[in-house]
Order: sequence, then structure tokens, then C-alpha cells
Amino acid sequence: MTELLDAVIIGGGPAGMSAAWELRDRRIRLLEAGDRLGGRMHSEPRGDVWMNFGAHLFPGPGSRIQSMLADLGLRTIEIPGNKFAVWSDGRLVAPRSVAMMPFLLDFSLRERIALCIAGLRIMREVARFKRFQAQGATLPVTERRQKVASYRGNRSFEQFLGRLPARVRALFAASGRRASVEIDEQGAGVGISLFASVWAGKASSMALNLDGGTGALPRAVEAALGSAVSCGATVLRVVGADGGVAVTFERGGVVETVHARRAVVAVPATAAAAVCDVPEAVRSALLEVQYGPFVSLGVLTDEKDAPDWNDIYAITALDAPFDMVFNHTNAIRAARPGVRHGSYMMYAGGRQAKSLLGRSEEEITALYLAAFLRIFPALRDKVVETKLFKWSPGNACRAVGADFSPVVDHTGRAVQAIRFCGDYFAEIGNMEIAASTGLEAARLVRAELDANRKDDPCPSSE
Ligand SMILES: Cc1cc2nc3c(=O)[nH]c(=O)nc-3n(C[C@H](O)[C@H](O)[C@H](O)COP(=O)(O)OP(=O)(O)OC[C@H]3O[C@@H](n4cnc5c(N)ncnc54)[C@H](O)[C@@H]3O)c2cc1C
Repeated sequence: MTELLDAVIIGGGPAGMSAAWELRDRRIRLLEAGDRLGGRMHSEPRGDVWMNFGAHLFPGPGSRIQSMLADLGLRTIEIPGNKFAVWSDGRLVAPRSVAMMPFLLDFSLRERIALCIAGLRIMREVARFKRFQAQGATLPVTERRQKVASYRGNRSFEQFLGRLPARVRALFAASGRRASVEIDEQGAGVGISLFASVWAGKASSMALNLDGGTGALPRAVEAALGSAVSCGATVLRVVGADGGVAVTFERGGVVETVHARRAVVAVPATAAAAVCDVPEAVRSALLEVQYGPFVSLGVLTDEKDAPDWNDIYAITALDAPFDMVFNHTNAIRAARPGVRHGSYMMYAGGRQAKSLLGRSEEEITALYLAAFLRIFPALRDKVVETKLFKWSPGNACRAVGADFSPVVDHTGRAVQAIRFCGDYFAEIGNMEIAASTGLEAARLVRAELDANRKDDPCPSSE
């Protein structure tokens, strides 16, 4: 007879890793389609530094991610550098305060005034958004999250900003593509929460890197969970069966089915809708989750000394084929003085990324590198390695007017065979929302398993 597992976790990104970590004392199996855990969290070590290709900004104390890092003996490092520098008109502008930006960019008077007005509107709205978040502090976590995720959700961020001169709009559009879609496609609350986190500087809830690189977390989880993890296992179907679930997957050309009391589905919403047998309203809400692509390029350089731009971590790039550039060595050098390499990542999101998806890796790399070297001409002849990733999905964010409540109601029920978790539970995706929804789903599964054990003191496991 086949073994009856306590839970199958489907998807090994931060949501699935967090759920599996919570249930590691039970009979579980984690099925991951890719050849490694981590999902969109990925970096690779290179000597004294690491190359990063996906998520890199980590949440601070009190977060689910930090509690997993503590369990696994990993530590975060501070990012000391500027996170709101701008590359525009052939100049790198990195003011101490974001309020100085309109006076330093090479803009006309009309553009400066428009930027000041839009900036002030966002600042006011960020303050309102924070009060709104704080007001929900006493609500149950899922209700609070639902409320925050629908903040100003009935109009787009572009509508919120109003008509802007082209270059001012381009600046907000490039920043807004951190949500992986355009500012006319994302709810206003998405753009506002993005700016709330970028402008918070050191106080940001995401102001850390992981020492050793983002990939150190999935590698540690995979090693600790051992044989409970199956990579290269693509789940094809998740259906309710005999009060539990039957999960069918393909691995190495062989199709298998495992049975478990419960399933935690931690794949992107659109993949979840494709494989899970759930009520139509839940499936439709999953399909409404909006994803855009990211095209990222990691660059490793030979840099023995700290460069002039060492104090800058993040740059919003105008007039470039990408939207953002990250100087990871800003954090690495602060934590490990004397490193002999530089590590950078740049990415495009939204329509810019969509237009790149069909192009070859060589073409995109050449295009990105040319623009990268315009920003940092001193690095000409110093690039030692590049590696390109086409992330699709890149990130999740709420579309204007989307109603996500059927998924929240479904997954929060006390008795439920198939539960969902992932970054798409928030207005904009990030590793912490993924990991905390994974933890919540796993705790509900544990409560059900414990309750069933009380009802049936000798549950059959075979
Ligand atoms: C370039 C980039 C930069 C980012 N920067 C940040 C950042 O700085 N900070 C931050 O917090 N977030 C960042 N993010 C977002 C963050 O990575 C995601 O929000 C997070 O990884 C989502 O976690 P998840 O577990 O919900 O989904 P994922 O990470 O996508 O994991 C889902 C997993 O499910 C697997 N899967 C899919 N279908 C199946 C199937 N049928 N069967 C089995 N397995 C399946 C996938 O292979 C994947 O491993 C970034 C993302 C990218 C791409």
C-alpha cells in the first residue's frame, strides 16, 4: 500500500519552503518543478562574493524569513547605501534625501514643478497608507492583509499620479516597474506601497541582504529537509480524495500519484489555478492575479578597490533597456571588507521586459552591458562574467479592481484539503508575504492534523 503522507507541499519558493519548514516534524513531501529550491530567490557563490539574479532585499526582525534564517544559522547584512539614485541624461544623481531629487535632475522648470507636486502627493499618500496599515493592527492577519492589499485598488497608479510631462512620467514608470507591470496596469495602492518601502531608506522593512547571497537560504532548507524534498517534480493535478488529497506529478518522464491528508499549494496563482481542483470562484480569483516578467542580468567584475559609486545600492535607470541597477557589493563590502570582485544586477519589468523575452540571451546581454558601461565606464574591461535570467512570472501585483477575497476565504477555512499560499496574497509580491502565508497555511494544516489525531487516536498511515 502507498504511504499516506500528512501533507504535500507543492512549489519550493519562499512560500513552500516556509510551509515545509513549519511541518518538518510531520510526514511531508515537497514537490518542486525546478532543479533547486528557492523559486524566484536565486544567487550563486563566486569566490568572496555572490552573483544575484532574483530577490535580494530581505525583511528585518520579527519576520518569518528572519525566524527561518535564525533556525538555519544564517544572518542578514545591512545595506548601507543609497537606494533611490537615478541615472538620467547621462548623469548619476544620488542625493542624500529624496526631496532633493527635483533640484538635481537635468529637468526643465516645468518638469521640476511637476515632479515636486507628484512627489508631495505620493509622500502624503504614503503617510495615509501607513496610518491605514496601523489601524488594521488589531484585525486578524488575513483580514488586515486583505484590507491593505485592496487600498486604493479601484484606480491605477497612473490615474492617481495624473497627467505628467513625459520625462517625469518616465521616472515614475521605471520605478513602478519594480512591480513588474506598468503604472497603468497596477492599482494605485501597489505604487504607493512600493514608494513607501523605497523612500523609507534604512527604516524600510526590506533593507537587508543575506550574507552569502539569497541562494544560501534555499540551499540550507534543501539540505535540512533531505529526502522530503523532490526537485524536478512537476505537479500536474491536485484533487480532493477520501477526505484528503491525491497529487499527481511527473518526474524524469514518470507520472506518479501521492496521497496525503492535506496539500499546501505554493506555486504562482496562475499555475495553482491550472492544477488544482477548486470551486470556480476560487479558480477565477487566482486567474485574476496579475504577473509581469522581469529580465535580469547578473554581472561580476574584477574590482579590487571600492569604486566612486560604492555608496550607492539601487539606481532607477532612465534611457536604458533596464529599469533598475543594484550594486550588491555595497552591502558585501561593508560586511566583508577587502573583497576583490564587484557584483551587480540589473532588470527590466513590464512592457520593456515583455519586448525582451523573445530576444536571444546574447542580444539582451549585449544591450544591457552597453548601457551598464555607460553608467559605469570605469568598468570597461573589468567584466568577468554575466548571467541572464528571464523570469516569467517576475512579480505578482494587484490589478485595478481585482477581487481576491474568494482565495482568502477558501484558504483560511478551519477544514480545507487544499490551501494556497504565495506572494500574490499582498498588493505586491515579496519573499516575506510568501513565507508568512506559507507559515499560516502550514499552521492550519497542523491544527487539522492534530484535531484528527484526537478524533482517531490510531490514524492509519498505510
Ligand atoms: C528579479 C527579481 C527581484 C526580486 N526582488 C525582490 C526583493 O528584493 N525582495 C523580495 O522580497 N522579493 C523580491 N522579488 C519577489 C520574490 O522573489 C517573490 O515574491 C517570491 O519568490 C515569491 O515566492 P513564492 O514562493 O510565492 O513563489 P516562487 O518564488 O515563484 O516559487 C514558486 C515555486 O513553485 C514552482 N512551481 C511552479 N509550478 C509548479 C508545479 N506545477 N509543480 C511543482 N512546482 C511548481 C516554481 O518552480 C517555483 O520554484 C524579486 C523577484 C525577482 C524575479
